[in-house]
Amino acid sequence: MDHIAANLSEVRQKIADACRRSRREPDSVELIAVSKTFPAEAIREAAACGQMLFGESRQQEAEPKISSLPGSLHWHFIGRLQKNKVRKILPLFDAIHAMDSLRLAEYTASVAEEFGLFPKVFLQVNVGGEASKGGFEPEELKREMEALLSVQRLEILGLMTIPPAEDDAEAARPWFVALRELRDDLERGFGVRLPALSMGMSGDYEIAIEEGATHVRVGSAIFGKRAYRVDGELG
Ligand SMILES: *Cc1c(COP(=O)(O)O)cnc(C)c1O
Repeated sequence: MDHIAANLSEVRQKIADACRRSRREPDSVELIAVSKTFPAEAIREAAACGQMLFGESRQQEAEPKISSLPGSLHWHFIGRLQKNKVRKILPLFDAIHAMDSLRLAEYTASVAEEFGLFPKVFLQVNVGGEASKGGFEPEELKREMEALLSVQRLEILGLMTIPPAEDDAEAARPWFVALRELRDDLERGFGVRLPALSMGMSGDYEIAIEEGATHVRVGSAIFGKRAYRVDGELG
């Protein structure tokens, strides 16, 4: 699987180039290697190249992989968060990318309190208003932000989005701009810092970085094509 080493170095180079183009520090972008559907062996291969942060989107798949791998690796949960999985997910993951309702945030906080945890979360925004996707509508998020900020125990890092699928990566740019502008509005309106923007996948992470992404979720460009789909939402 030496393609993983080569792919990783290409992705890192493209991240560095996108940072340079947009006059950002290269370490202002965190690469999350999305390892869903790939075996623990592939993750070891990436870890041997210094990649320590991985993204998984299904608890049932992630749990055995995480427990078979070194504890020095870090994990972000990027899939749709189901209430009945929160108790299993919280202890395994450093951050949750798809918090998509106030009720789920409150429930997650109650579990976090019971476990003595302070989870880091991203609020997912459905920038494209697609019926098939989870996330807050932008106006809904503005209405609920005050209540979300008052939920104890959750550290809201920022916003996350999965824009509508497009053939051309450039077409994603307006959605990334929309997420950044929503973040800026929320920071001004509520007097808070929301430093993180989780946006950009294999097809468009360079553009996401140009528009301010701090976390890019890159799977197939590192590990190769996935043999099967998870979630029914994303390949
Ligand atoms: C699968 C997935 C990714 C990675 O997708 P690639 O196109 O393989 O880079 C990113 N984000 C989420 C939420 C995903 O489910």
